[in-house]
Amino acid sequence: MRQLSEKIAAVAPSATLAIADTAKKMQREGIDVISLSIGEPDFDTPQHIKDACIAALNRNETHYAPGNGIPELLSAISNKVTKENHIPCTPSQVIVACGAKDAIYEGMEAILNPGDETILLTPAWVSYEPCVQIAGAKVVKHPVNAKTFQIDDSLLERVNARTKMIVVNSPSNPSGAVFDRQSMKLVADLCQDFDLYAMSDEIYEKLVYGKEHISLASIGAMQERTITINGFSKAYAMTGWRLGYAVAPPAIIREMSKVQQHSVSQATTFAQWGAVAALNGDQRCVEEMRLEFDRRRKYVISELNLMGYATAPADGAFYAFVMVDGDDMEVAARWLEQAHVAVTPGSAFYAAGWIRLSYATSLEKLKEAMSRIRRLGGK
Ligand code: PMP
Repeated sequence: MRQLSEKIAAVAPSATLAIADTAKKMQREGIDVISLSIGEPDFDTPQHIKDACIAALNRNETHYAPGNGIPELLSAISNKVTKENHIPCTPSQVIVACGAKDAIYEGMEAILNPGDETILLTPAWVSYEPCVQIAGAKVVKHPVNAKTFQIDDSLLERVNARTKMIVVNSPSNPSGAVFDRQSMKLVADLCQDFDLYAMSDEIYEKLVYGKEHISLASIGAMQERTITINGFSKAYAMTGWRLGYAVAPPAIIREMSKVQQHSVSQATTFAQWGAVAALNGDQRCVEEMRLEFDRRRKYVISELNLMGYATAPADGAFYAFVMVDGDDMEVAARWLEQAHVAVTPGSAFYAAGWIRLSYATSLEKLKEAMSRIRRLGGK
């Protein structure tokens, strides 16, 4: 038989899923594993959002919808983005996709050519590099400042004639860091000086604790060269709905639309009605979930610090990023085998020596997990 695709063979399987699979296997064997490896809210989707989707199904919104999204959702998104993110936006600048992940994939395909380089700030989420590779391009990694987790001038050293795009993710998965205005301004200046595109993944924008969320596209003229990624999974606990979106200049949206038309066609029609209710409805549910994450965050960070672990500034998302002694893969394996606590090794995010711990689980479970880690001897 002839060889399968070299391009896909070069893509690494998701490391975050590997540890979650081992944890699930142990759970099936009857072992009481506490999983802090997951990247999804433990809350269910708020009722009014589900009701809007059910009503849409009952109205027989079960047919194909216009390619880039139902008009009601496109205008709800463009209103939200104009008002909250300070990016002047019309529906022609929006595409609804099957999750933010799908929007990221379409954006990479729309912009990159083979041979192009994309700068990835590390630690970074697992799916950016594979999406860049599938588009035929290459990732060039650049670490954020190890203490502040902000961006400094050293970023300039990564730019060369092949650089086409930079990916920014604030609040960050996995570090929980939130880029301040100075970091964002640095990226904006770089993009403008060297004619680069930017992808700004803002999926955790609603989960910020005491810091300001800044949209890259709201700075100067960045709107003309930025794809802003967002979605419903994290803010509205809608991971299984598979709905996300991108905001970009119409010329980029048109190219992303072609990728979508010839692959998934569109996002699910009746699910989009749920998203309309999410954006246009009462936002108290978002704040209630944020406050609960904040409570858990304070508890987990203080427990880890008391045990002697240094943590990254946990200003956003729902992850504690913890510095460990020695090999993070070994530490994660030891915590799983001996304490029955599943976490994700930082190596999965290009950050050896760190561990990502999700606090998107009940305070009760977090308390048990912390006491198990403490019993292992802490640090
Ligand atoms: N970006 C980041 C940084 C994420 O953590 C995730 C989900 N883990 C996504 C995008 C994808 O979200 P969605 O469920 O909307 O595809």
